[in-house]
Amino acid sequence: KIAITHLAKSFGAHVVLKDVSLAVPAGGVVALIGPSGSGKSTLLRCINLLVVPDSGEVRVGADAFRFGPGTRLPGTKALARFRANTGMVFQHFNLFPHLTALQNVMEGPVTVQRLARPEAEARARALLAKVGLADKAEQYPSRLSGGQKQRVAIARALAMEPEVMLFDEATSALDPELVGEVLGVMRALAADGMTMVIVTHEIAFAREVADRVVFLRDGVVVEEGPARALIDAPQHPDTQAFLAHFH
Ligand code: ATP
Ligand code: MG
Repeated sequence: KIAITHLAKSFGAHVVLKDVSLAVPAGGVVALIGPSGSGKSTLLRCINLLVVPDSGEVRVGADAFRFGPGTRLPGTKALARFRANTGMVFQHFNLFPHLTALQNVMEGPVTVQRLARPEAEARARALLAKVGLADKAEQYPSRLSGGQKQRVAIARALAMEPEVMLFDEATSALDPELVGEVLGVMRALAADGMTMVIVTHEIAFAREVADRVVFLRDGVVVEEGPARALIDAPQHPDTQAFLAHFH
């Protein structure tokens, strides 16, 4: 479902991703781990083209984009459709503060997909229920906890009915007691068969929920393998050193 091949990205002279390849089958869950600055967010952002790769190929579902010298981004319409198909959840929720939870979730379907309001509202209410927030539909973000805001952000991404979901440290800005409710929603999505790439520092969660774990360091995939095997018995010394911090 997701296939990233020979991806490279530099910011000026700074090489951030070097020949990275990554494949996620339909329904697969991959956790991306690695030290700060290793290129995890950049890689995730390349998957939905928030960052434009210098070279390589990005394939999500039926859409494939090849990058190289002189290639330009697809047009804004194709790009918006592609991004809607790859739902992204960030560390900071970026909800629209002047819209209620319900309106936040309805916004994409109404404005991008031109869905009629009654249908968009029905879809949004169902998704708010799914993330455990049926009773918060009319609340503004300022009246929600961090964990609730993040769950609205997940519902908002799901409202576009994406084929894949990308999570960039979705729980790392939360107070510890709120982490569990967001991980619970992510766990349920994975169990539902959603194809997911998760950047996370929650190693125990990655071990439990991901099928595979990819360890990135200095823009290179140092090691990847089945989640339990990689986390319990990493082979590469850099992976061992990194995981030692979490014991
Ligand atoms: P963290 O765990 O801290 O979130 P990360 O693994 O997500 O780190 P990235 O955010 O992908 O790392 O950053 C990788 C490198 O690329 C860093 O050195 C960062 O400073 C650099 N970088 C990221 N985005 C940009 C940008 N837009 N312009 C210039 N440099 C950037
Ligand atoms: Mg990051």
